[in-house]
Amino acid sequence: MNPNFLQTPIEYLKGVGPNRADLLKKELGIFTFQDLLHLFPHRYLDRTQYYKISELQKTNAEVQIVGKIIHIKTVEQKRGKRLVATFTDDTGEMELVWFRGHKWIRENLKLNEAYVIFGKTNWFNNGFSMPHPELELLEAHEKSLRSAMQPIYPSTEKLSNSGITNKVISTLIQNLFIDTHSKFSETLSSSILNELKLLAKSEALFNIHFPKSQNLLARAQYRLKFEELFFIQLQLVRKNMLHKSRIKGYTFSNVGTYFNSFFTSHLPFDLTEAQKRVIKEIRKDLGSEAQMNRLLQGDVGSGKTIVAFMSMLIALDNGFQACLMAPTEILSVQHYNSLLEWCNKLNISINILTGSTNTSNRKEIHEKLQNGELQLLIGTHALLEDVVQFKNLGLAIVDEQHRFGVAQRSKLWHKNVQPPNILIMTATPIPRTLAMSVYGDLDVSIIDELPPGRKNIKTVHRYDSNRLKVFRFLKDEISKGRQVYVVYPLIQESEALDYKDLMDGYESIVREFPASQYQVSIVHGQMKPADKEYEMNRFVRGETQIMVATTVIEVGVDVPNATVMVVESAERFGLSQLHQLRGRVGRGAEQSYCILMTSHKLSADAKTRIETMVSTNDGFEISEVDLKLRGPGDLMGTQQSGVLNLRIADIIKDAEILKIARGYAFQVLKSDSSLSDPQNLPIKNAYAALVKFQNIWNYIS
Ligand code: ADP
Ligand code: MG
Repeated sequence: MNPNFLQTPIEYLKGVGPNRADLLKKELGIFTFQDLLHLFPHRYLDRTQYYKISELQKTNAEVQIVGKIIHIKTVEQKRGKRLVATFTDDTGEMELVWFRGHKWIRENLKLNEAYVIFGKTNWFNNGFSMPHPELELLEAHEKSLRSAMQPIYPSTEKLSNSGITNKVISTLIQNLFIDTHSKFSETLSSSILNELKLLAKSEALFNIHFPKSQNLLARAQYRLKFEELFFIQLQLVRKNMLHKSRIKGYTFSNVGTYFNSFFTSHLPFDLTEAQKRVIKEIRKDLGSEAQMNRLLQGDVGSGKTIVAFMSMLIALDNGFQACLMAPTEILSVQHYNSLLEWCNKLNISINILTGSTNTSNRKEIHEKLQNGELQLLIGTHALLEDVVQFKNLGLAIVDEQHRFGVAQRSKLWHKNVQPPNILIMTATPIPRTLAMSVYGDLDVSIIDELPPGRKNIKTVHRYDSNRLKVFRFLKDEISKGRQVYVVYPLIQESEALDYKDLMDGYESIVREFPASQYQVSIVHGQMKPADKEYEMNRFVRGETQIMVATTVIEVGVDVPNATVMVVESAERFGLSQLHQLRGRVGRGAEQSYCILMTSHKLSADAKTRIETMVSTNDGFEISEVDLKLRGPGDLMGTQQSGVLNLRIADIIKDAEILKIARGYAFQVLKSDSSLSDPQNLPIKNAYAALVKFQNIWNYIS
């Protein structure tokens, strides 16, 4: 077959004229033969099963019967006419009824010949009838490709109203198979086909459209899912490899004084095995010629900060500068404070740049960055401004990356002629399968171990009506010297209302916890940064016992003495947000608690979210539930939802196939990066066609 044949515009297919072509394009995005061939049925009717008329039941299931039409008549009714045929088999008799299309049926129906009829039956006038049956002569039916499992294609109202029924689509596809003699180019190498025992491409396509058995259908689906995921992974892995071979990064060949003296004399605690492993992975990247592009995943509290710091020390040891960007002011300040302590011990110059840095400090920072006096810079988005220029930025670290857009990420790159090494840290565990697709072009490190001695946080669900009991519990904890967070939702669309909730809540807490005994802080997004910082610091220093806040405290804040997290209107928070909030407690040695307050009215999803939080502390487990509830598009933000434009595979359900596909993509490209081995020719051709015609670049963020 001419390889370009499948790119023929759909109007040239037998049975498709300009009008139908127009509809197919608009309604289903089918422009070419190829598009039609890859319109996969979303379900199948099992037409291997035949019924006798005597076996019919009063259900709305579709049934298939073999019999003969022995009589046909027109019945006048109030509005128009109906055509009624008597249909029999050796067990009984029923009626077939048409309200439209009489002429065609009268002219074409053959009496006393064996037909296969298919459709739903009605119980009417003491007998069964089938309105508008699908019917086909038994002889033709037995030859037809549609004989076993009938495919049901995606459709739209417009299509079916315009007569492009499921049967029409199926017939068009059948025409395509006839035109091509059911031969389609193979797209995978024979070694992959053999190792995975996959159906050949032609066989898979045939059986996805006209399956002869459940078993063949299952194998066809597997093969096509594999293929779809394989080519996406091939694309991502290729991008990753190209990146490594083309983009030269700074090579940090020395591990020198800073790193070593910190490691031997100043480590505040023993590193966990996971931290050690990740630092090793990062060191290896930094020591290689290629630019590092690594994602570091670690649950809240898993200790990413020290990993970031030690990575920066390697940059400094090689005479470079490093920066760390965080999404909020509070978080930047906190990072700055913890790093400052370590930097002082090592004689490293460090500073912080945020929106509230005053002009003279700002000027000084800009100057010292450019002349190289300043070695480490911490900050918010302010780091991205064009005026911020480094002398030699060797490593850029981004904390909590899901809050920064991809565009912002790339802005950091352009701070230098040569892009710095990049480490992205996220505390939002991304299910591995999704990470493979969305961050498939990055290398991933995972800290999957919490520092020792952490107790599991006890999580409970309480209704608003139990608030007094909850307050009593808070008083108990505070009397033991502990501190407490009370968090309110603040969701942009209803900000005014949420703000009122927050203030009402604050007032009721102040009433319940009188100023004679208790100090209460409040922090929310409408406060000036300086006021926020002031309140936050009072809490950090233990001068206040209760922190009433909106989700501004969600990320990163570290107060080990805080042991209770109360989340108000918890039903309004997403799972990952709840998990992040809970991560604010359980940072010290004491038993910590998370109390999720809700009203009695809970949606099914909200119930699942709360139950999940109560039952597990494992961020990855939570992210899997989140993925199931929200779907990958929502989880990653619309930006990345392109990953979802899959025709047949499903990132969640087909996670296993995805893993295998990624493994093979690696294997193929590792041994044959240019796909020039004749063995891989089918892959090379298919890949080129995908890039050219299907624009699979769109899959990638
Ligand atoms: P996150 O991954 O959420 O950014 P942090 O880096 O803020 O976590 O670490 C959380 C807390 O755990 C901090 O107080 C930190 O000092 C402490 N910590 C980190 N690693 C260890 C370790 N290996 N042993 C003991 N405590 C640790
Ligand atoms: Mg952190």
